[in-house]
Amino acid sequence: MGNRGLCGERGFRQQFSTQEQTPQICVVGSGPAGFYTAQHLLKHHSRAHVDIYEKQLVPFGLVRFGVAPDHPEVKNVINTFTRTAQSDRCAFHGNVVVGRDVTVQELRDAYHAVVLSYGAEDNQALEIPGEELPGVFSARAFVGWYNGLPENRALAPDLSCDTAVVVGQGNVALDVARILLTPPEHLEELREMIQLPGTRPILDPADFLGLQDRIKEVPRPRKRLMELLLRAATEEPEVAEVARRASASRAWGLRFFRSPQQVLPSPDGRRVAGIRLAVTRLEGVGEATRAVPTGDVEDLPCGLVLSSIGYKSRPIDPSVPFDPKLGVIPNVEGRVVDVPGLYCSGWVKRGPTGVITTTMTDSFVTGQILLQDLKAGLLPSGPRPGYAAVKALLGSRGVWPVSFSDWEKLDAEEVSQGQGAGKPREKLLDPQEMLRLLGR
Ligand code: FAD
Repeated sequence: MGNRGLCGERGFRQQFSTQEQTPQICVVGSGPAGFYTAQHLLKHHSRAHVDIYEKQLVPFGLVRFGVAPDHPEVKNVINTFTRTAQSDRCAFHGNVVVGRDVTVQELRDAYHAVVLSYGAEDNQALEIPGEELPGVFSARAFVGWYNGLPENRALAPDLSCDTAVVVGQGNVALDVARILLTPPEHLEELREMIQLPGTRPILDPADFLGLQDRIKEVPRPRKRLMELLLRAATEEPEVAEVARRASASRAWGLRFFRSPQQVLPSPDGRRVAGIRLAVTRLEGVGEATRAVPTGDVEDLPCGLVLSSIGYKSRPIDPSVPFDPKLGVIPNVEGRVVDVPGLYCSGWVKRGPTGVITTTMTDSFVTGQILLQDLKAGLLPSGPRPGYAAVKALLGSRGVWPVSFSDWEKLDAEEVSQGQGAGKPREKLLDPQEMLRLLGR
């Protein structure tokens, strides 16, 4: 009892001193989660200093390398992130792979708190025969390729085939399908796939039977989406739309009740020639409803298979707990379970679903919880060296971080290269070239 009293008193002194000094906090990952967490910490603590570590040479994560090029308005969040990065209490350190160049334990030694916001850089595999054939790609790699992610720049998908099959029907799958269907000159203005110039939808009205009644029960955003599909599949189009569809040279469709069984090889076995789909039907009611195979299969000829069945986080470092089944760092409201002073936000916290605003909300929660812990004296007391210590470690390992002003130089170069080609920017793809431009 007496000891606990003493601890309590020491805890109070620690709390007092921690509040007086500058809390040194670092965030790993510069996507929306990293930037929104940093923004919350800087806004709600007048002295906190936040360092953001990023493995790429450039910031913004999936806003730069995921969000489709025809959604420029979504990319406007970069302006908010830039304001955060330009705060004199925030610093960006790109070209640092946490877990390889510096360990999470070393970061924990250098900072009062560490927030892991490193996203979901892997993807779920189809786990069917033939998946390794040339012409089969994960949507993650394909998206990385069309968005200029350096590690995917050599992907070279052969787009000369007539048919591509996208496995999955989530937002990423639709992005991929839309980009495949879109002539490059339209990439800056199109909005809805259903009205995509030069394309017609192939939707089987039978797939939508009975949906009208069930639509009422679903949440509003999904309801709007389902109404749109239902109209496209079942309503007689207006005359102008009939003419538009008749002259379309490209088509897209959604197939329901199909499950991929095997990627079919070409006769010489050297690349993809089709995909075998098991036909399924629903069994059971309510939560217990499951799609079960009917025993029928359907072979769909195609030259490209893109599996878009989900992103997946990886463990970053053996010292950090990781739930391989859920693909997340086990946490309670962003506090990493059993590791005081370690937090997480974004896709690595809650799994790879949700848009940027969802990520913003959960990152603000993590920021708030961290500041509560700081105030309660639960974080280490005494000054912490922050970046000074990490910089020395990185230098001794031959790692040279890039700063936010370095990114601003690369940004200016991309914009200037784009102007020549009439585009908002021409992304730099080669890290060596980027380093050369920075005089390294
Ligand atoms: P990320 O954005 O992935 O950021 C993680 C960052 O951590 C990356 O910069 C990564 O390089 C870095 N990192 C990884 N490992 C390390 C390491 N070891 N050391 C240092 N840094 C590391 N949302 C919308 O609102 N609108 C859209 O139109 C939209 N389109 C999307 C399209 C695609 C293809 C995808 C995949 C997602 C899309 N989203 C969209 C969702 C949105 O991108 C996510 O909600 C959001 O990016 C998740 O943020 P995050 O910071 O958790 O992850």
